[in-house]
Amino acid sequence: MDNLAKKLEEFKEYNRKIEYLNSASSVLYWDMRVGIPSKGVAYRGEVLAFLSGETYKLQTSSTMEEYIKYFEGKNLDTINTSMVQRAKKNYNLTKKIPEKRYIEYVELTSNSEIAWQEAKEKSDFSIFKPYLEKIVDFNREFINYWGYEVNKYDTLLDFYEPGITVEKLDKVFTELRSAIVVLLEKIKKSSVSPRTDYFNENFSKVSQESFSKYILEKMGFDFEKGRLDESVHPFTIEFSNKDVRITTNYHEDDFRSALFGTIHEGGHAIYEQAIDDNLKGTLLGSGASMGIHESQSRFYENIIGRSKEFWTYFYIEAQKRFPQFKGVTLEEFYKGINHVEPSLVRIEADELTYSLHIIIRYEIEKALINGEIEVTDLPRIWGEKYKEYLGVEPKNDSEGVLQDTHWAGGSFGYFPSYALGNLYGAQFLNKMLKDIPDSFERIANGDLKFLQAWLKDNIHNYGAVYKPSEIIKKVTGEELTAKYFIEYLNKKYSEIYNI
Ligand code: ZN
Repeated sequence: MDNLAKKLEEFKEYNRKIEYLNSASSVLYWDMRVGIPSKGVAYRGEVLAFLSGETYKLQTSSTMEEYIKYFEGKNLDTINTSMVQRAKKNYNLTKKIPEKRYIEYVELTSNSEIAWQEAKEKSDFSIFKPYLEKIVDFNREFINYWGYEVNKYDTLLDFYEPGITVEKLDKVFTELRSAIVVLLEKIKKSSVSPRTDYFNENFSKVSQESFSKYILEKMGFDFEKGRLDESVHPFTIEFSNKDVRITTNYHEDDFRSALFGTIHEGGHAIYEQAIDDNLKGTLLGSGASMGIHESQSRFYENIIGRSKEFWTYFYIEAQKRFPQFKGVTLEEFYKGINHVEPSLVRIEADELTYSLHIIIRYEIEKALINGEIEVTDLPRIWGEKYKEYLGVEPKNDSEGVLQDTHWAGGSFGYFPSYALGNLYGAQFLNKMLKDIPDSFERIANGDLKFLQAWLKDNIHNYGAVYKPSEIIKKVTGEELTAKYFIEYLNKKYSEIYNI
């Protein structure tokens, strides 16, 4: 083994320590969300903070600095180049912030989550406002440490979606927003109004759970490498590619919630389960970005899971298991799960209007981080944008500006990933249909395995070796574009609503 190869092995050994800590933190975090007794939460928080401090030390140590310096300028293959870039990025992000300020910020965000919860319960923005003001100030300050080229918000976007900038997002989101608003106006005028009442009969938790597991198995979720549990908000978490957990929340008075939540999280999990074993120790053994992750979950949830072909096969099984659907035709069911209704709450939004909820948050965050608006303006601006884009207005802060927890945790720049996932997903679909023209016929016959194989070969295998923009280019030959998602929406909803 030559010197370089030896050094690479050593570096991977070092990185493994970071991966072990992350894995341990994930187990503790999963348990905290799924099964911890309420009085155990505070101590668990301390343990998690301790572990994240240990990770911080490894990421910013002088050893890490030496490794990064050693590998810079060396001729490395693709995976090793990405590994060094990833390590360097983590190093810079944490190292550039004075330690004292970093600790203050961590404390602030954990307190502000508590304040946010209280504010949301009481529907009173003023409780959360002073915390949010400080969080925004911290983010503005951190951007000064990290630096920016064109737009301050770019620096935050880069956390979640490396390579994505305000310039790119402004372009695709403006196109997307106008296309959706036009389509929504047409739908409002349409005489078609799908029935959805049958979804709200009583569906026992046991039968919902068994149906969810049945669909997960058909999707290719490997139960020997994962589990399905319950939590208030559904999520996916990986301890390694051999242990990927998802959760869902059963509502006995709504058939759709747990089912589509499970398919969504299943899409995330199938991604993580398929990541190549060889990426251990490279820091690249998880999804490429939030947006690419969302493209997989939304692909399964919406493009596949809300397609007529999917239900051509699965509705027969659903009718066998759920007498509530007696007398409801496949056509009615299909239209029911795709019913469009502008609403105030993002997580309850339909496939069409969902992106508008995201675009509103994007526009607000961008202006806030750049100092064009201030925290005190948020409830008003929130209401104005909802009225303009969706035609609905929140009656109180709880169903308006306080609905999401992201800002309380300091996660600015995260929201756009959700809408990017929609765009990427439609781009992947377009390419998949070129590679496998009879995809939807296969789906109508209950075959979802070919889909999983296509996604694995093109996307999943590679973990975070490639940046999102590189993946899109590599798989589809094109850059990010809103074109395919807009075409997909127009086609789908014109047919459903007879436009
Ligand atoms: Zn998701």
